[in-house]
Amino acid sequence: MRIDLTDICKKPGIERSFPVTSEVDFVNTPESYPIKQLVPFDLSIANMAGKRLSVKGETQTTVIMRCDRCLKDVERTLSLTIDRTYPIQDESIVPDEEDPVSGITDNVLSPDELLQDEIFLSLPSKVLCREDCKGLCPLCGADLNEGACRCERPAGSLQMAKALEGIVL
Ligand SMILES: [Zn+2]
Ligand SMILES: [Zn+2]
Repeated sequence: MRIDLTDICKKPGIERSFPVTSEVDFVNTPESYPIKQLVPFDLSIANMAGKRLSVKGETQTTVIMRCDRCLKDVERTLSLTIDRTYPIQDESIVPDEEDPVSGITDNVLSPDELLQDEIFLSLPSKVLCREDCKGLCPLCGADLNEGACRCERPAGSLQMAKALEGIVL
């Protein structure tokens, strides 16, 4: 979806609303997370006195991430708030060289680009399938949530644990 801003840029004070249905399927971080759902929403675009363009919208998305410990799929629902302003000069949007993800190129707005950026910024840095996820065995890769594996724990750490116990008691 593309929104041509040429008309809005020429009319100070005008405000318009655009229903957005996202076509974003993935959010790309170093990993690529599938987007399960993004609630359709209205993007409100306003020309503020011919000087600035305001772009606002709120929605929710469900992203399929992975548990940091056991790597199982984990769904996370994120609230997204788009709230941006762009300077208008000579009835066009001034490109911001500093902002690589401005979402606007040649007076055409890409809601998907804005959404990609907002989702990326909203991703939690830590993801666990549950607080006490036991994770995977570092030796055999078994999911320790489903029971202990047959690997021997390194002897050193056992002795250390016993020694510490002795101190506490
Ligand atoms: Zn887990
Ligand atoms: Zn193991």
